[in-house]
Amino acid sequence: MSTKKPANSKTPTMRFRLDGHWWRVKIMRPPDKELCWGMCHYDERTIYLHPKAMKNDLLGTIVHEVGHATIPPTDETHIRELERVTCAVVRWAAGLNNDQITIGQHKVK
Ligand SMILES: [Zn+2]
Repeated sequence: MSTKKPANSKTPTMRFRLDGHWWRVKIMRPPDKELCWGMCHYDERTIYLHPKAMKNDLLGTIVHEVGHATIPPTDETHIRELERVTCAVVRWAAGLNNDQITIGQHKVK
């Protein structure tokens, strides 16, 4: 018997559409990968964001996992470079903008 709590209605969840399929993003510990801040489960079309990622590297974790979702098959080396470069550029650009990050209008479908 598993002692892990399953995702429930209290798990913050959002959905987005990608290549004609609905994906979910859940704020919860990634199943079976408790030490990871994020996980992209391609077959379930679900991205998990560990609650600890929210306070540590939210942008990097999101870029990494959405990279996996949008650029299959998984190429961990390039996904990590996408994460590293995106975060470095965002940090630099935000520094020129009073540490503010702006987000434009993007629809989920
Ligand atoms: Zn990865």
